Amino acid sequence: MDDNYSKVLLDESEMPTQWYNIIPDLPVPPPPPLHPGTREPIGPDDLAPLFAMGLIEQEVSSESYIDIPGEVLDIYRLWRPSPLLRARRLEKALDTPAKIFLKYEGVSPAGSHKVNTAVPQAYYNAKEGITKITTETGAGQWGSAMAFATAQFGLECEVWQVRASYDQKPYRKTMMEIWGATLHPSPSDLTEAGRAILAADPNSPGSLGIAISEAVEMAVQDENTRYALGSVLNHVLLHQTIIGEEALLQLAKVGETPDVLVGCTGGGSNFGGLSFPFLREKLAGRMNPTIRCVEPASCPSLTKGEYRYDFGDTGQLTPLVKMHTLGHTFIPDPIHAGGLRYHGMAPLVSHIYDQGLVEAEAIHQTECFEAAVLFARTEGIIPAPEPTHAIAAAIREALRCKETGEEKVILTALCGHGHLDLASYEKFLAGELVDYDYPAEKVAAAMAQVPVID
Ligand SMILES: *Cc1c(COP(=O)(O)O)cnc(C)c1O
Repeated sequence: MDDNYSKVLLDESEMPTQWYNIIPDLPVPPPPPLHPGTREPIGPDDLAPLFAMGLIEQEVSSESYIDIPGEVLDIYRLWRPSPLLRARRLEKALDTPAKIFLKYEGVSPAGSHKVNTAVPQAYYNAKEGITKITTETGAGQWGSAMAFATAQFGLECEVWQVRASYDQKPYRKTMMEIWGATLHPSPSDLTEAGRAILAADPNSPGSLGIAISEAVEMAVQDENTRYALGSVLNHVLLHQTIIGEEALLQLAKVGETPDVLVGCTGGGSNFGGLSFPFLREKLAGRMNPTIRCVEPASCPSLTKGEYRYDFGDTGQLTPLVKMHTLGHTFIPDPIHAGGLRYHGMAPLVSHIYDQGLVEAEAIHQTECFEAAVLFARTEGIIPAPEPTHAIAAAIREALRCKETGEEKVILTALCGHGHLDLASYEKFLAGELVDYDYPAEKVAAAMAQVPVID
């Protein structure tokens, strides 16, 4: 390849045809999810009212590789393989000897990596005769992805969107409606969970935890409806591994291996998707990258949360999972990266962090937006607020290389574009962006609500 390449592409015929399940390769298996009532490990049947059986099988699978169904590959080909970008202009602006690579997932129809799991989730539900999906959305990315995916398979889609983002991002709503989904701001008066929150606070800005409770409550009431989650769960991270598998092939094409891999973590899916194939290579001794999660300073579930069994939602309807958590009742400050405003972290990411296999750091949003504007001015792409965290972390690393003279290869995921997040940039450019610190008291209050389980 020409030495001045700006992006590394794969042919459609080179697209990976299997997802990678990291669980069998982990030195210690992750702890099992528990039934919210009995607090005993749950079996597939406990999850059946919520998820399609094809997805439950993947959730608990001990196979290392799972074939991607042909119908899913066909839809993936609308935008996959996604490009691997080399940020030469950013490197030059930073005057760093480091090489910065970004796996760009903003090329998908909904503009983020979320479609990688929305499509197989819709596929398995449709295959099993389910007619409707309920789900939640924070920033609107997941709701858009699911609206697109359900349209592909002729399923109905009903979305509870966190109130704060429903009001802030009207175009996400339009996008979901174009693909045929029905939207409700959350908390809503359509569910018991929503009514309880509204009774306590009629002006509640909502949270992902509340919206999840609402979507779950609606799904379990109808035998032809299932719920879909856009992050956190094993099967979601599994579907996202196509990102890392492609990136491995792309880096190999230009003869590079990463020294540092950073990814933003909300529920952990784009990070897991990018990093797990590289962690497999690391555990097998074929490369040795430092792998680091980046989270918002205002919602630092890994760096400040406790590794405990907790509920995935505010209404305590989901199974108890062992994860780094700030408490299921915690409502994060209104940072612009709505997709990173979640109280917990994927059990798999929490487990590998607990095992010392990956690192984590937390960054304030002003530094993230500064990094994103520099990125936009050099590389052109305007990132979604969530991956501004990944870019800020990549820039920190590149600047350390400038100090030491190390020519490190840095890899990250630019997991979505920010074309529908311009209001956030407007605030930043006007100097009105607020940094929120670690909300110690709010977290302590929320942690007091977390059940004590040995
Ligand atoms: C949802 C979302 C996130 C956060 O979710 P993860 O599961 O941690 O990836 C990050 N970035 C974008 C663009 C998102 O849409």
